Amino acid sequence: MLNPLYESLSDKTYDAQVIVTLPVFRLFSKEAQVGVMAHEFAHAEHADRLGPGWYEKMLSRYADEEKHADRIAVQWGFGDHIKALRSERHEIVNPLLDSRTRRILRRLHKADEASRNAMLARMRAAGIDEAELDNLI
Ligand SMILES: [Zn+2]
Repeated sequence: MLNPLYESLSDKTYDAQVIVTLPVFRLFSKEAQVGVMAHEFAHAEHADRLGPGWYEKMLSRYADEEKHADRIAVQWGFGDHIKALRSERHEIVNPLLDSRTRRILRRLHKADEASRNAMLARMRAAGIDEAELDNLI
């Protein structure tokens, strides 16, 4: 996934970064993994041509952007890799992720709850009272 890389929260401009979620990436074959990376670098090449505001421009036409990235990667010679990526995403990865959605969401919820409780404990230790906490959360 090609995402903005901000220097600070107030920045209006940003660079780009490719983010790979390894547990998902590992579900693909080596051939499809090359397709994933070619697709992401195709987004980067397109972002460079779009210039400032590239991320918002891409999001506003997301489906077209996805097809465009695949077309660029195919033009670069990664056609077989893109074909493997599409086929494995449709036949293997998405069904597997769909079947694991409930477990993934439960795990995310637990992690979120643990993080929230740790934050509450730190705030209590800092002397913030319960009523104030209720207003903050
Ligand atoms: Zn994409």
